[in-house]
Amino acid sequence: MKQAFQPRLLHSGEKRTDVNAQFRAEASALALQFRCDDCAYVVASIGTCSLGWPNAALHTPTLALLEIVRTDGIPEFCKAFEPDGS
Ligand code: SF4
Repeated sequence: MKQAFQPRLLHSGEKRTDVNAQFRAEASALALQFRCDDCAYVVASIGTCSLGWPNAALHTPTLALLEIVRTDGIPEFCKAFEPDGS
C-alpha cells in the first residue's frame, strides 16, 4: 500500500509525552496559531471544518489537551490551516 510522506517527530529514545509537552510549552510561549479555533475554515457554532477535513485532533478545547504527536509519531498539523485574523 502506498503511503503519503509524513514527517516523524519522534526520534530514537524520545518519549511522545515529552515531545508533546515541549510542543505545548513552545506553542504557548510563541502564541502559535495552528488549531481549528484559530482557522478561517472552522464552523465555530458546531466546531466542524467547512472544508470537510477531519478535525477532532485540532479542535481540542484547550491547547493543554492537544497531543500534536500521534502514537505513530506523525504530527497532527493541517495543511489547509488559514489564520482567521483574530
Ligand atoms: S482547514 Fe484544517 S485547521 Fe482549518 S478548520 Fe479545517 S481542519 Fe481545522
